[in-house]
Amino acid sequence: MSKVRVATVWLDGCSGCHMSFLDMDERILNLIPKIDIVYSPLVDAKEFPEGVDVALVEGAVSSDEDLHKIKLIRERSTTLIALGDCAVTSNVPSMRNPFGVDLVMKRVYLENIDCQAGVPNERLPKLLPKARPLHEVVKVDLFVPGCPPSADLIYQVLSDLLDGKTPDLTQARFG
Ligand code: SF4
Repeated sequence: MSKVRVATVWLDGCSGCHMSFLDMDERILNLIPKIDIVYSPLVDAKEFPEGVDVALVEGAVSSDEDLHKIKLIRERSTTLIALGDCAVTSNVPSMRNPFGVDLVMKRVYLENIDCQAGVPNERLPKLLPKARPLHEVVKVDLFVPGCPPSADLIYQVLSDLLDGKTPDLTQARFG
C-alpha cells in the first residue's frame, strides 16, 4: 500500500504548532510506516509538491507570499487542515488588523528602533491589508484549534485520517 503524502506548512505563525507536532515524540515513529512527509520546515523540500494527501497549515494568511502559497497548497492537496488558532481564526497575527499596514510598519521599523531605521520594501513579502484565517481565502477541510493544538490532538487527528475515519474534534478547544 502506498504511503499517505503529508505536508506541513508554516505561514504567519510562531512555529508553536510545529513544535507541538514534534512533541508527538516517539509516536511519530508509529506514523512513519504509513506516511511520507513530502514538504515541511522539518524536511529539505523547497517546492510544495503536487499530489499531497494531507496538508497541515500553521498560521494566518498575512502577506502576498502567504496568499500565493495557500492557493498553491489548496490546488495540490486533497485534505487541507487549518492547524492551530492562527490558521483557524487568524488569532495573534490579526492583532495588527485594526491599525492598518502603514501604521504598523512605521511603529515597528521607524519608531521602535534605535539604529538603521527604515521600512523594508524589497526583502520582505508585502503585507496584505489584514491577516486572514485560511478559510477566508481557500476551502478548509478540517479545523484543529488550539494555541497550539496539543501533540495528543495532532496525533489523534492524523491517526484517525490514516485509519479512514473522520477525526472527532468535539473536545478540541481554542487557546
Ligand atoms: Fe503560535 Fe498559537 Fe499561532 Fe500556533 S496558534 S502559530 S502556537 S500563536
